[in-house]
Amino acid sequence: MDKKMLEQLKAKLLEHKAKAEAELATFTEKDIKVAGDYDTRFPDLGQIQSPDEAALKVATYDSALPIEYALELRLVEINKALEKIAGGTYGVCENCQGPIDPKRLDIMPEAKACLKCHKK
Ligand SMILES: [Zn+2]
Repeated sequence: MDKKMLEQLKAKLLEHKAKAEAELATFTEKDIKVAGDYDTRFPDLGQIQSPDEAALKVATYDSALPIEYALELRLVEINKALEKIAGGTYGVCENCQGPIDPKRLDIMPEAKACLKCHKK
């Protein structure tokens, strides 16, 4: 892969990273004990007037958890891809060690497997 393409993909990864972090920040507090870990804020139930309102707030919390999990996973993949760029192993399929199609990386720069392996 040429350097220019690599730079472009790196910029894209950093952009995706900032976006995912901003999304996480809207409903989580960064866990200071574990770097890169986020905890979804549990709703404050102290001020609630009715059981219905409490149920609604807890339901909102429950539905946020899978989104938080997906975003965290995505961030992990993005950070791994950035590490690979730094280490010079970016764009190589983790499964077959073959090159990943740049077109695939363009759409999904954090991809860690080529399309062939991904479909398996
Ligand atoms: Zn592969």
